[in-house]
Amino acid sequence: MFTPLEAVAYALPLRHRFRGITVREGLLVRGSRGWAEWSPFAEYLAPEIDPWWGAAVEAAEVGFPAPVRDRVPVNATVPAIGPEQAHALVTASGCRTAKVKVAEPGQAFADDLARVEAVRDALGPSGRIRVDVNGHWDVDTAHRNLAALARFGLEYAEQPCASVAELADLRRRLARSGTDVPIAADESIRRSGDPERVVAEEAADIAVLKVQPLGGVRACLELAERLGLPVVVSSALESSVGLAAGVALAAALPELPYACGLNTATMFTRDVTADPLVAVDGEIAVRPVAVDDNGEWRAGGAATRGWLRRLATVAGAPAADDDEPATEGER
Ligand SMILES: [Mg+2]
Repeated sequence: MFTPLEAVAYALPLRHRFRGITVREGLLVRGSRGWAEWSPFAEYLAPEIDPWWGAAVEAAEVGFPAPVRDRVPVNATVPAIGPEQAHALVTASGCRTAKVKVAEPGQAFADDLARVEAVRDALGPSGRIRVDVNGHWDVDTAHRNLAALARFGLEYAEQPCASVAELADLRRRLARSGTDVPIAADESIRRSGDPERVVAEEAADIAVLKVQPLGGVRACLELAERLGLPVVVSSALESSVGLAAGVALAAALPELPYACGLNTATMFTRDVTADPLVAVDGEIAVRPVAVDDNGEWRAGGAATRGWLRRLATVAGAPAADDDEPATEGER
C-alpha cells in the first residue's frame, strides 16, 4: 500500500464556471518519484474514485513510461461563454484546434450555434472544431443539432448522447443522412464500466481517454490498444501536476492523430507551480512539473484532512487516522 510522504489539498479558482464549478479542488501527494494528483470530482463516490487513486500511485511511486515525442498538440477549450468571449479566447490561445462546450443547461441551441460560429471565425477555415455535449441530447435532438452545426465543419462531436446504445443509433442515422460528423465517446469510455462495449456496438469513431478516471498512464495505453480506435487524450481539469500524467500518456501513445484536451491549466487564475503546463504555439512540452512550495494554491489543513478522509473510502488507500502524512499547518 502506498502511504504518501506528504499530502496537501489545493484550491484553484476558474476564470469561467466549468462543469458547474468555479473552484477546482484536489489533493497533491508526494511519493518516491515526486508529486502526484488525486482529484476525483465531488460527486464521484467509491468505487468510481478507486482508479483515480491508481493513477496517483503510478505517478508518485512508479513514474511514467518513456515518451516517443517531446511535445504534444493541444486544443483550446471553450466553456459555455458568449461568442465575443469565445472568439477572444481562441485567438489568444494560439491553438489550431478548439473544443467548444455546447448544450449547457439553461442555454439555448442558438447560443451553441453563435459560439461555434464565432470559434470558426477565430480559427479560419483550416482550424479544427470539436464540440462536447456531455451526453445532454437525445438521439433526435443530437441528429438535428449536429446537422445544423455541420456547416461550420466539425472534427467530431464528443458524447452527444448519454448511452452507448444512443450513440450507436445516432451514428447510424448520421451516416444514413449523409451528415459527416464523427462521434467521440468520453463518458461512455470512462464511466460506463465497460469501455469495450463502445467498440462492440460501433458507437464511436474516436475514444477520449483521461488518465485519472481510467487508472493511470499504463492502464490507458493498454485500453487504447484493446479498443483499437484513434484516441484523444484529455484532462480531468487537473492542476499542472495532474496534467503531467495526461501529457505523459499523449507522449507515449504510438499514434497521436488528434490535438489533446490538455491545455486546461489556462482555465485557472493560478496553479500549484510557478511554471504551469500550458501550450506555446498550440503545443505542450513534455517536461516535469515542480510544485511551488509557497504558493497561494494551498487549501489549508482542514481541506487536506477532508480529502484524506475521502481517500480512506478508496480500496487499498491509507486510512485517514493511521499513518496520516504531514498536512499543512502541522508541519
Ligand atoms: Mg467530454
